[in-house]
Amino acid sequence: MSECIFCRIVAGDFSTNFVAESEHAVAFNDIEPAQPVHVLVVPKTHFTDVADLAAKNEEVLLDLIKLGTRVAAEQTAGDFRLQFNTGAGAGQTVFHAHGHITSRSPKA
Ligand code: AMP
Ligand code: ZN
Repeated sequence: MSECIFCRIVAGDFSTNFVAESEHAVAFNDIEPAQPVHVLVVPKTHFTDVADLAAKNEEVLLDLIKLGTRVAAEQTAGDFRLQFNTGAGAGQTVFHAHGHITSRSPKA
């Protein structure tokens, strides 16, 4: 069994509700939302961080970003951030690549 929490979420070990899914990525709500919209977009396969992902698989990277912008279009009024914390010094705590979609402006 993987010790990576996001690999386990992708595998369905916690019955996490995916708010969106693409060929290579899933999206689910952050367990500790920092803003009214806070969704994580996570590749289905394991990469340490976005730099590792960009170096190894551009198809998955593009798919992940497109899933993020789709979630933003569905859930926000149009203003959002897509953020990749990369490295512990930058605040990364889960070492499976993921983007944070955050917004103060949920779709009405
Ligand atoms: P980062 O600090 O950029 O690595 O982001 C990791 C994020 O994952 C944090 O915002 C956590 O709140 C979130 N997180 C950790 N465990 C879970 C989980 N089981 N389900 C949803 N979000 C989680
Ligand atoms: Zn993983």
